[in-house]
Amino acid sequence: MSLKENFARRAERMRASEIRELLKLLDQPDIISFAGGIPDPALFPTDAFAAAMSNAVSGDAGALQYSSSEGYAPLREWLAQHMTELGVPADADNIFITSGSQQALDYLGKLYLSAQDTALVTWPTYLGALGAFNAYEARFDQLNLTGNRGADDYVAGAEAAGGAVKFAYLSADFSNPTGETVDREGRLKLIEECDQMDCALIEDGAYQALRYDGEAVPPIQALEVAQKGNLEECRTIYCGSFSKTLSPGLRVGWVCARRDVIQKLVLIKQAGDLHSATLNQMAVYQVAENLFERHIPKLQKTYAARRDAMLAALARDMPAGVEWTRPEGGMFVWLTLPKGLDGKDLLAHAVEAHRVAFVPGGAFFADGSGSNTIRLSFSLPPEDVINEGVARLGAAMRDCIGR
Ligand code: PMP
Repeated sequence: MSLKENFARRAERMRASEIRELLKLLDQPDIISFAGGIPDPALFPTDAFAAAMSNAVSGDAGALQYSSSEGYAPLREWLAQHMTELGVPADADNIFITSGSQQALDYLGKLYLSAQDTALVTWPTYLGALGAFNAYEARFDQLNLTGNRGADDYVAGAEAAGGAVKFAYLSADFSNPTGETVDREGRLKLIEECDQMDCALIEDGAYQALRYDGEAVPPIQALEVAQKGNLEECRTIYCGSFSKTLSPGLRVGWVCARRDVIQKLVLIKQAGDLHSATLNQMAVYQVAENLFERHIPKLQKTYAARRDAMLAALARDMPAGVEWTRPEGGMFVWLTLPKGLDGKDLLAHAVEAHRVAFVPGGAFFADGSGSNTIRLSFSLPPEDVINEGVARLGAAMRDCIGR
């Protein structure tokens, strides 16, 4: 007997990503990979974490005990201060600690989406957000930040599909996958549209701290608080993460939002995993408190040099007709290939003949389009390897264009 017949309807939509499966096979030493998009482990503050963990465990036994679903109080206080510095006057009651910001996306899907409800997402968007919302049988519509479509079109589409627009989701700073940042005007327009639709606005700030140049744009949540006077009146739900700044493995992220949203998320967590790991939260608190301010410039310096190397190499080695973004931060550059060149076909050839890998862009589009796009990450390889990898990529493209 197969148990599959008994799976819930939502399980039908959960599929292994073709790309993730493919990338698993690429873990070979002679391949230069721009696929990952993970922080450089050489930049983890390992000594500080070793000391913080040891302190926490050798203090009272609380570090090994169950703790509150809202999160470790000193960490919530620290984050309230951090959000206040970003322009969002928050207090600890506005902060909820999650097991990575991925969990926040799952919980927000659970909180807002009934089957057939619409989640507005950019085309392309973060793959993990599509996965999280998809599990709640969401319908996706394209959040169009520059074109003619707006609130009325989104609402009409959602109603025709038998649901409602529940939220817009975007990563506004150095997005995964494009590396692009939404400017102040775009952020204000989005707040206005969400006001018109009376829906939530989920701001994914995973890369917020990783700005290398250009002028910082305030978080959408900060712009909204400035308009409405009080966080309790705001529809923006900010999801933050320590994964890109301190450590992804400890799985510590946070949500900053009005209290009524936080209280519901706490109930979801009680039914989900009770609370995020106590020891990890204590360690992240100590390390953040002691060295966050000093640590960020180190990350910025290293990643900025890698970004610069990648942009220079692209300018040197890309064939005519290839276009790419010029990110002011984050970990990604997004390439649009000449028409007719398919990202998946290019990957197959690039790996086989030139030993270089990346992520084909189609996976980041909710409607499966974007086949002529690819994502490159510059966060892991040093500059000389980036140079060599981009030269290989250019050669692979020339082969494919010449076919
Ligand atoms: N949002 C974005 C845009 C991401 O790129 C990632 C990680 N790749 C996450 C959220 C999730 O990160 P974490 O759960 O580690 O905080």
